[in-house]
Amino acid sequence: MNLLALPAFSDNYIWLLHDGRNALVVDPGDAQPVLHALEQSALHLDAILVTHHHADHVGGVDVLRESTGARVWGPATERIPKPVRRLKEGDSVNELGLGFKVIDVPGHTAGHIAFYCDAVNGSPLLFCGDTLFSGGCGRLFEGTPAQMLASLDALSALPANTQVCCTHEYTLANLKFACAVEPDNADLKAYRAWCVAQRADNKPTLPSTIGRERQINPFLRTRSPGVVAQAVARHASPQDEVAVFAAIREWKNNF
Ligand code: ZN
Ligand code: FE
Repeated sequence: MNLLALPAFSDNYIWLLHDGRNALVVDPGDAQPVLHALEQSALHLDAILVTHHHADHVGGVDVLRESTGARVWGPATERIPKPVRRLKEGDSVNELGLGFKVIDVPGHTAGHIAFYCDAVNGSPLLFCGDTLFSGGCGRLFEGTPAQMLASLDALSALPANTQVCCTHEYTLANLKFACAVEPDNADLKAYRAWCVAQRADNKPTLPSTIGRERQINPFLRTRSPGVVAQAVARHASPQDEVAVFAAIREWKNNF
């Protein structure tokens, strides 16, 4: 399987997975980069997976469906360009001979879903939309801190070698904030240096892995003492893990 991050707009990635003949894409906010990639590699688009309703994730769905006949899979409860096959927690999708499990991850939007496959080229693969970013997480537009924390906990519990395909290249800005939260995290410093070099070369910092995010992402580390202390300095109770998460998220909103 080949996994490509197609750049779109200023900082989106449209993930394209293909076996040399057939392809699927995730969250095509724009049809053009997808049509170009399909043509370049002579691929047929079988399916479109959608994680949530935002325009930068669904803007290309109609054009791609009409020009390729691709099946569209999306969340059960969000407004997605129709016809769409609707999915919720525990459902599965079979495309390209792979099985993707659906995980409900409310928080960024109310009905946001993620797609998880337990083996692509020997390691698990996650398409998580705008829920988990490298070094960060999505803004809480429709969900509560408790929902987002539960969603991130579910993703954090996936195997360490899971490849994490996020839909935005927000990594450097996220890591600047992460370093403010955990100035003494050596893994974070080393990873940040690697990401700076990747971007200087105009290469993506993604996919990340769940194991790496557990080491460096403050939003997956809200129970670690250093992160808790930062939240307590912002008036969260150390016993209240949702309040700790909310305080860190709020700090990032104003960073
Ligand atoms: Zn979004
Ligand atoms: Fe987005």
